[in-house]
Amino acid sequence: MNTDVKPAVLLPAFAATDDRPVTLGVLGGGQLGLMFVHAAQRMGYRTAVLDPDPTSPAGLVSHHHLLADYDDAQALASMARLCDAVTTEFENVPAESLRVLSQRNPVSPAAEAVAVAQDRLVEKAHFQTSAAQSAGAAAVGPVPYAPLREAVDLEAVDASLFPAILKTARMGYDGKGQVQVASRDALAAAWADLNHVTCVVEKRLDLVAECSVVVARGRDGACVHLPLQVNTHVGGILARTEVFPGNLDADLSARAIQAAEAIAETLRYVGVLCVEFFVVKQGDGTLGLVVNEMAPRPHNSGHYSIEACDLSQFDLQVRTMTGLPLSEPRLHSAAVMLNLLGDIWLNTGELRTPAWDHVLALPGTHLHLYGKLEARVGRKMGHLTITASTIEAARQVAEEAQAILGIWH
Ligand code: ADP
Ligand code: MG
Repeated sequence: MNTDVKPAVLLPAFAATDDRPVTLGVLGGGQLGLMFVHAAQRMGYRTAVLDPDPTSPAGLVSHHHLLADYDDAQALASMARLCDAVTTEFENVPAESLRVLSQRNPVSPAAEAVAVAQDRLVEKAHFQTSAAQSAGAAAVGPVPYAPLREAVDLEAVDASLFPAILKTARMGYDGKGQVQVASRDALAAAWADLNHVTCVVEKRLDLVAECSVVVARGRDGACVHLPLQVNTHVGGILARTEVFPGNLDADLSARAIQAAEAIAETLRYVGVLCVEFFVVKQGDGTLGLVVNEMAPRPHNSGHYSIEACDLSQFDLQVRTMTGLPLSEPRLHSAAVMLNLLGDIWLNTGELRTPAWDHVLALPGTHLHLYGKLEARVGRKMGHLTITASTIEAARQVAEEAQAILGIWH
């Protein structure tokens, strides 16, 4: 049972004691911040974004935009004064900044939880703890790995981990900070290329599939989840998410959801958390699950929930940070989500505007463009969610949209 002290629920509009509209703050002004701001504003909250970029997607649409670095003491003090509750959209925000803000505001997720997600080694240790506390067969552990902090660790890496993936412990995203290493010989050179920063050596697994679960946990310990997402990555970047009843074997799906909730529970997490899993073939030929990583925030794979569920991951973020009740989101349409990377603006060899009018002529297409000013290869510029009554219909539309946009995967 949760014994946290419950601060008052922050109702929208004029609920603050000092007679001003309740203001919700977010650290980071990217697309996740943008969609959070949209959800918060729709419910009548004011918003404040802290991001040093004057053209950040969320900063441009927020009531307040504090233009400063995430560790700027003055800006954090202003944020604390301005806001009634604070969240983050950016997992690499300094945990110390969240700690500072928590002196005046409810901050969710808490600095301690974000700090766990910022370091792959700490994160994996947490996954092991969480798995150890779960009952036998239901336990879902991390990918086999070894830490690489200093030169002596090189020899200690178990031979069974090769071929491996070397990942920096901190600051990796969208496949950045990762190097494939075929053998122990390649490891030392690959680590030198990463300037000998602290790393994790992970066994490279043959993936049958990838999936993720978005959970939301309230201050009272109540936990709800989005339906499980099945994801396809291309070059380490999420390319496509599919959600429909039966998208993964029912038993595996239930276990992934249970594991994600256990991970949130063990952290006494408050807020939205996404846990990524790998589906692998086990020694006996049956399918099993391992935990890949977690994100202490809404996740790219949960974007479909805006149109395909009656409650989105951003609605859940608003509800967890304000202490509003959570209810289990219900999937009312099958969905395919396609990420729109900068590549599609550039794939004809010159900058051109994709034929959105043709895409939007297709049934059930929902276009999200984040308002980023420059298209670059691999940069997330937007996403397209396709809803339909069946997954076959959604896939058919996705194929047509991909042909228009030149997305080949
Ligand atoms: P990021 O923080 O960049 O999302 P991930 O660790 O999730 O980093 O890796 C990105 C993608 O690379 C994964 O979604 C998966 O497709 C692939 N990948 C990562 N680790 C492994 C592994 N141990 N075995 C096989 N594929 C992996
Ligand atoms: Mg990932």
